[in-house]
Amino acid sequence: TPAVEIHNLTKTYAGGAEALKGIDLTIEPGDFFALLGPNGAGKSTTIGVLCSLVNKTSGVVKVFGHDLDQDRNWVKMQIGIVPQEFNFNQFEPVEEVVINQGGFYGLTRKKARERSEHLLKQLGLWEKRKSMSRQLSGGMKRRLMIARALVHEPRLLILDEPTAGVDIELRRGMWQFLTEINEQGTTIILTTHYLEEAEQLCRNIAIINEGRIIENTNMRALLDSV
Ligand code: ADP
Ligand code: ADP
Repeated sequence: TPAVEIHNLTKTYAGGAEALKGIDLTIEPGDFFALLGPNGAGKSTTIGVLCSLVNKTSGVVKVFGHDLDQDRNWVKMQIGIVPQEFNFNQFEPVEEVVINQGGFYGLTRKKARERSEHLLKQLGLWEKRKSMSRQLSGGMKRRLMIARALVHEPRLLILDEPTAGVDIELRRGMWQFLTEINEQGTTIILTTHYLEEAEQLCRNIAIINEGRIIENTNMRALLDSV
């Protein structure tokens, strides 16, 4: 079963913007997949639909074989999302941000604590666990976003422009971590407008422009063709 199957997905926003004009996409389990395209292409809308943050206009979306319309809650449980903006409670201690998110996904407090400890250690935030999250540096806040997204052990991790505004050194650290997560079996989708980022990380890539997929191939084939 593919991790993600999208058939003829369209989205027209209330204002009339046709963000998606009929998208087809299949992403295999274990893949590290890039959705690449310029601003306004439809990347955020596509992942918004996957995460139930955006209502699609038409089309079929399946996640690990389950139809989004029929099994929305099940699908939500399989996905961890890292949005672009820091939307955690800045006045909560770092570990509480992660533990409380576990609560949203129905983890026991004990289990959420264990997951939090594991993730904060893995992401180099353990020393900061008692700090107010607003006091973290930008790079640390982004890592906290990733820890929070992984608390319920999702099979699919989706990141929207994960390194936008992150300097090159921090970017490499984040790439390293995401590669490890992927090697442990988590399917990853990221959106980016840097080909370099997609090139460094991803096995397969779709290029989206003006609401249409204009290329869908593996990274090696793409690089060989230019
Ligand atoms: P990307 O993530 O590739 O930058 P988006 O999916 O955010 O692209 O946007 C695709 C198109 O949909 C753009 O024309 C954008 O202006 C429009 N759009 C995105 N979000 C909304 C919204 N909430 N309401 C109306 N139009 C939107
Ligand atoms: P800054 O103050 O510039 O935001 P940070 O305090 O966030 O920097 O980062 C400190 C260290 O953590 C850096 O050496 C960086 O390479 C590393 N780092 C940043 N992000 C990650 C990550 N996602 N995974 C692993 N290491 C990271």
